[in-house]
Amino acid sequence: MPKAKTTARIIWFRQDLRLVDQQAVRAAAAAGPVIPVYVLDDETPGEWRIGGAQRWWLHHSLAALASDLEDFGARLLLLRGRAGTVLPELARTTGAGAIHALWHYEPWARVAQDEVAAQVELHLHDGNFLAPPGTVRSGSGAPYRIFTPFWNALKHRMPPGDVQPAPDSLTMAEAPAGDVLADWKLLPTSPDWSGGFDVWTPGEAGARATLDKFAETAWDYERARNYPAETGSSRLSPHLHFGEVSPAAVWHAVPDSDSFRREIGWRDFSTGLIDQFPDYHEKSSRTQFEKFGFRNAPDDLAAWQHGRTGYPIVDAGMRQLWATGWMHNRVRMIAASFLVKHLLIDWRAGSRWFWDTLVDADLGNNSLGWQWIMGSGVDSSPFNRIFAPVGQSARFEAADYIRDWVPELKHLSDTAIHAPWEHGGVPGYPPPLVDHAVARARALAAYAASKA
Ligand code: FAD
Repeated sequence: MPKAKTTARIIWFRQDLRLVDQQAVRAAAAAGPVIPVYVLDDETPGEWRIGGAQRWWLHHSLAALASDLEDFGARLLLLRGRAGTVLPELARTTGAGAIHALWHYEPWARVAQDEVAAQVELHLHDGNFLAPPGTVRSGSGAPYRIFTPFWNALKHRMPPGDVQPAPDSLTMAEAPAGDVLADWKLLPTSPDWSGGFDVWTPGEAGARATLDKFAETAWDYERARNYPAETGSSRLSPHLHFGEVSPAAVWHAVPDSDSFRREIGWRDFSTGLIDQFPDYHEKSSRTQFEKFGFRNAPDDLAAWQHGRTGYPIVDAGMRQLWATGWMHNRVRMIAASFLVKHLLIDWRAGSRWFWDTLVDADLGNNSLGWQWIMGSGVDSSPFNRIFAPVGQSARFEAADYIRDWVPELKHLSDTAIHAPWEHGGVPGYPPPLVDHAVARARALAAYAASKA
């Protein structure tokens, strides 16, 4: 008697490119043969499709996932197009009975989920957050809008569940050939700006190695994280963004740093915000900022983007970003504050630049970061807290960091390097785009006018 054919389950990978602690993989594998698929969907997000730096990461992460799946005897199917069209079509042609995926909360991820679910049985699983966004609620039943009470409530629900291993085996169902990764041209060619990206190892093994290495020094995180010249933070952000490691796995691997776990809590919080406010990436939450007198200053914006503002700490950060796709958190705050307060340029111009240049560009974290700095968010720093770039640079001992990224200042002393113009300037390095005191007064005046 021939064996009855079990219908296949599709595993729809998105920003969860891992096999360990991946509930969609486990659920599909437990039900029978599988078709693992990644859909490159530039249509549903439209102008918010993933940017250049992330495309570089995605290429390598998909290559790693495909190779990991091969070890289990399975193949990663690559398809391109609107997920809400391509996936139901795949289910029809293969006779697959259902699709398994993890929940995602970007507005376009929800659209894709809804479109797929209208046509095929879709099972959405949790696992990309410490607690499912929207489920951490105050006594009145409302989701939180302020981080500290959110964090206190989230901590009560911790620890997260145990990390679930990858399934023992996968049985690959019959599936079409699909696309060839190289044909997607996710990597830059001319010019190839990715030379400095070799500091990263995208993929699940790279994520695990980064986590293990960080766990050894995590006890010193609270101090070291503030100093850009040190490797004091985990550098897990792109791995977490692409879901190459689960936040539960990160939590369990770092038992001796509450302050680090709190940052993972911020990631949950920011996704909770975009879940509550789907236009958080485009609209200031405090309406006064919608009539804020931003300047239209393309030359200043270009100077900021290219690390030519004349403020070494800002320029070092912007050059680190361009070269490696990542910037230290303290410097992100200084550089973002400089754009919106010293240059009075709209925070959305900054967040768009980050969207294209960060390997960890994440709708929740990026929008929260920019609205926090602007002072326009539901939970944010007050507008009149204006970072002084020189003071911050000296206080957080950024001299060696500046030497790494602004080599024309290499020869300056630890004192002079924060403000070269006060020591006669350096040929080839620009003078400050604006004077700090003048810029500060201008920003406060613009703020007062927006309240009127
Ligand atoms: P660690 O300090 O080791 O933190 C561990 C993890 O916690 C991070 O990987 C990240 O997932 C999360 N985390 C840390 N800080 C924050 C935070 N402030 N908000 C939310 N989650 C946090 N982070 C992104 O992942 N993507 C972004 O697009 C992004 N844009 C930002 C824009 C601005 C203007 C600012 C000020 C911050 C932004 N951040 C963003 C937050 C933060 O700068 C990065 O998460 C951090 O620098 C990543 O380095 P790490 O992995 O070594 O962090």
